[in-house]
Amino acid sequence: ISSVVDSLTKAPRNIAFPSKDGVPKPSSEIFGENVFSSKVMAKMLPKPVFKNFIKQLKGNESLDKGTADAIAHAVKVWAIQRGASHFTHWFQPVNDSTAEKHDSFLTLKSNYEEGLEEVTAIDTFSGSQLLQSEPDASSFPSGGMRTTFEARGYTVWDTKSPMFLQDGPHGTAILYIPSVFISYNGEALDEKSVLLRSAEALNRVCVEVLDLISPKDSETPRTKSVHSTLGTEQEYFLIDRALYTLRPDLKITGRTLLGGLPPRHQQLEDHYFGKIPSRVLAAISEVEYELARVGAPIKTRHNEVAPAQFEVAPIFEESMLAVDHNMLTMDALHRVAHRHKLKVLFHEKPFRGVNGSGKHCNWALSTDQGENLLDPTSNPETNNRFLLFLVAVLQAVYEHGDLLRAGIASASNDHRLGAQEAPPGIISVFLGTQLDEVLNAIEEGRPVNHQVAAPQLEEVRVKGTVLDLKVKSLPAISRDLTDRNRTSPFAFTGNKFEFRAAGSKQSPSFPVALLNSAVASVLVRIRDALVKQKGDKPVASDEDQLAVIRAFIATSKNVRFEGDNYSDEWVVEANRRGLANIKKSPEAFKRLLRPENAEMLHRTGVFSEPELHSRYHILVEKYCKDVTIEAHTLLTMIQQLVIPACFAYRRELAEAAANLAQISVGAGPEVDLLNKLTPIVSDLQTSSAELGDLMDKLNDVTDFAALADACSEQVLPGMDKVRGFADQLEGLVADKHWPFPKYTELFFNI
Ligand code: ADP
Ligand code: MG
Repeated sequence: ISSVVDSLTKAPRNIAFPSKDGVPKPSSEIFGENVFSSKVMAKMLPKPVFKNFIKQLKGNESLDKGTADAIAHAVKVWAIQRGASHFTHWFQPVNDSTAEKHDSFLTLKSNYEEGLEEVTAIDTFSGSQLLQSEPDASSFPSGGMRTTFEARGYTVWDTKSPMFLQDGPHGTAILYIPSVFISYNGEALDEKSVLLRSAEALNRVCVEVLDLISPKDSETPRTKSVHSTLGTEQEYFLIDRALYTLRPDLKITGRTLLGGLPPRHQQLEDHYFGKIPSRVLAAISEVEYELARVGAPIKTRHNEVAPAQFEVAPIFEESMLAVDHNMLTMDALHRVAHRHKLKVLFHEKPFRGVNGSGKHCNWALSTDQGENLLDPTSNPETNNRFLLFLVAVLQAVYEHGDLLRAGIASASNDHRLGAQEAPPGIISVFLGTQLDEVLNAIEEGRPVNHQVAAPQLEEVRVKGTVLDLKVKSLPAISRDLTDRNRTSPFAFTGNKFEFRAAGSKQSPSFPVALLNSAVASVLVRIRDALVKQKGDKPVASDEDQLAVIRAFIATSKNVRFEGDNYSDEWVVEANRRGLANIKKSPEAFKRLLRPENAEMLHRTGVFSEPELHSRYHILVEKYCKDVTIEAHTLLTMIQQLVIPACFAYRRELAEAAANLAQISVGAGPEVDLLNKLTPIVSDLQTSSAELGDLMDKLNDVTDFAALADACSEQVLPGMDKVRGFADQLEGLVADKHWPFPKYTELFFNI
């Protein structure tokens, strides 16, 4: 290992950024250059064709063959001019990654002259090739739907997400066509169809609610559509690639199954926001460059809390696009890291004992005029529109918190949730003192107490908005009036909600689809309550709206929690309030099928019954496979690497002791160490044999739900036991014998 460490190349790799007059171009000039955007389409397509396309986009018409052919021709010309040789439908099966199958533009045309075939090669791309493709669905997760439906599947162009080019080999390019993936009978086989459906359900009802509360005069612009917005803060680790290849556990499972904490890891709090290591910075900027070209707007990069941990965050976008861009971001990080001799780890807990990685999903609602419906503005207490949408989210999280928990459950995220660094299995909402007081005041029918609501505001009133920095030469800054609670799994942060429990490895699509659906379903009730309140009036009055708001504040109250989510008192309190506390995935998955959740997902049209069952089966099966693969990997490592290393060291000590005895020198120290090692090696052997027996026994379990419970209750504790002994030995065996890099080497060689 030490010779590998000595030969690591840590120097940053340089790439030539496009520049003008020797100065690198600003991101704004590169941004979206590889996107077949509506702007490009408007330029390249005949006007009537473009108009038809926009009509279809707005959901008013389906795409006719002529329009599809014209778009296909235009995008072919555009793509081939930029070096494209192939096109691919690009879709998101239920496996947290993306799928593609390339087809070249090449077509052969035959001409027969006097019985002689003359073949001409041309590039073609038709409307029907653009619209749909037919991959074999049978090798993607389908959760049992295959047994009831045909194995055939279709990918269909999702017109809402623009086509784009990615680099191919040798300077060529590939045209990517964002698509949904459905079965022969139209059942969703992917993440995206479900997300699109949830967006439609949400859009419909948001517009209806807005219609009921907006004055019907000519000045007030009517909102024609509403969509959820999403900004995904992506956390990840980067480690040296050569060291990575020496760890079978990382390669096979994405996390270390063994390894003790070094004396120094994250205690000094010196990594967070520290100077980004130069090799990492070089890699990240190459990622940002690639992403800018495909129109993924990356905004922020920084070091995270754990050693070798980083974060990248985009500018938020319409949820569907944000999901596409998050998948592209993960893909770019993965690919580019290779070029820099680095390996990116997206696992939620690659290293025990230091912080894991999440994917905070920042979520809000935006109108077609770009207004954020969750913006409290300066007067939240009189902003009924804001309050209506706010209570809708509160009620949705209250009723379907367990469903949201299910949406983020996985074998990998289980290691992160509930630890001191990440939200626990109880889903509650943090609003902040000001909004909490506003809601309490409305509920109790009294004026807002501004001393309570905004002590910061009171202070500001007395001392002014500008912070006193006690240094004259510093510029004046104004303070942020919203407070933060980093322990909450679902926090209101200024003008958006932040769902923090989502895992770094997962597609954000599923949790966002569930959230969209839950909020849409509550908004339907809010709409009905408004209709009832307003009676014959053209729109609901302020009093009508307030009555509805008050009712929903009362019914959703139990989900609000302003305190420390990591405290033991909260567990007791949440239990008293009847909030679910779901610690492990197998329990969480069952919540998908809880009648109230299933019924809501059917009613909003987001999941049909077979689709929901299929999703449940996919998740449970994946969980079992993940844990089983880990257990087998661990056993292999113990058997093939750890135990032989211990034996080698024991032999060395024994030979030394024998040699020393021969020349009459006391061999006490060697013998002491041998005596210390022996019982631990035995324990390691016994515990791994037990785990092996257990795995053999579980081989016969065919019911995945039962297997998942066994994985959670027996296999994982069994693995922990084995690890305990192995980690003790790691601390005792001479470093030169230890067969794979330790945390120290992995953390500090970037
Ligand atoms: P932090 O949570 O660390 O304070 P920021 O305030 O910078 O972070 O925001 C984090 C993410 O939230 C960014 O990706 C940002 O684009 C996103 N975000 C901001 N406003 C919205 C919104 N209205 N809807 C969805 N995401 C948003
Ligand atoms: Mg955040």
